[in-house]
Amino acid sequence: MKLSEIYTKNKLIFSFEVFPPKNANTENLFEELAKMNKQNPALISVTYGAGGSNRNLSLEIVKELKNHLKQPVMPHFTCICSSRKYIEKYIQEIEELGITNILALRGDEPQEIEVCYRDFKSALDLIEYLKNHSELEFAVAAYPEKHPKAKTFDDDINVLLKKQELGAKVAYTQVFFDNESYYNFYDICNKKGVTIPVIPGIMPVISYNQLKRIVELSGTKIDSKVMSYFEKYKDSKEDTIKAGIEFASLQCEKLIKFGVKGMHFYTLNKAKSSTEVIKNIT
Ligand code: FAD
Repeated sequence: MKLSEIYTKNKLIFSFEVFPPKNANTENLFEELAKMNKQNPALISVTYGAGGSNRNLSLEIVKELKNHLKQPVMPHFTCICSSRKYIEKYIQEIEELGITNILALRGDEPQEIEVCYRDFKSALDLIEYLKNHSELEFAVAAYPEKHPKAKTFDDDINVLLKKQELGAKVAYTQVFFDNESYYNFYDICNKKGVTIPVIPGIMPVISYNQLKRIVELSGTKIDSKVMSYFEKYKDSKEDTIKAGIEFASLQCEKLIKFGVKGMHFYTLNKAKSSTEVIKNIT
């Protein structure tokens, strides 16, 4: 099913994001995915390493899911540092698998890379390519708290508008913990003419240390009260997971009242928290 069909349904749309495991052992991942599928997500997205660091595993997982899932699989794809020839081949392979949707990204330049091609410099270059050379529908990334490298918030929203003009069907946001960031971003997008669904990225916290790392890496804002809330439970995995589910459920309930079309769950390859949140809010 294409993104344009998924996001015109008159119900809340849930999607799950997974990543290729670092140890390349996919057995656990597939077990977790089987549990996620019981919630009947509208789609499963699979991340892709910038510069192609885990591109083979990402594609293997996509192939496996395509063969075994009834839900659509959406590969992420980053263009930074890849040659045009490589991109052409990858997109062709994706289409030959019968995949219909892709999350089109620029990605971050890897620190250690032998050759960084400059054929595609931003997500817009990739999107232009997809529009002109493929039948794939594409989703894009959006940043309610501004991309850390963007000069201004306005620049970021203009880029999102351009992505929409070029045919993006939906945007998924960077993870956030403060709904006010999303409300504010959504209102500005709306005023500037963004009409595609801007789906909030929700990450139920499962580990305090991981939360700290994610906040540092992505520049996501987090209130000190929220940080202290999770710090309280940092010595108990079970209590952290419980607190993460409670926090994300409340966050989602408020987003539903605000009128979002759905949620994109950063599952961290674990089914329990995201599926519990969905049970709590539906
Ligand atoms: P673009 O749309 O090209 O840029 C986004 C915004 O940032 C624009 O406003 C642009 O002007 C600004 N910007 C970006 N770089 C600069 C710069 N150097 N100077 C000034 N302004 C700049 N990464 C992965 O590697 N693999 C994944 O699978 C992956 N999945 C993601 C999924 C989601 C939903 C999101 C939100 C992000 C994901 N990322 C992933 C991270 C993403 O690749 C980075 O945030 C990357 O830096 C920007 O990619 P983009 O497609 O948003 O880029």
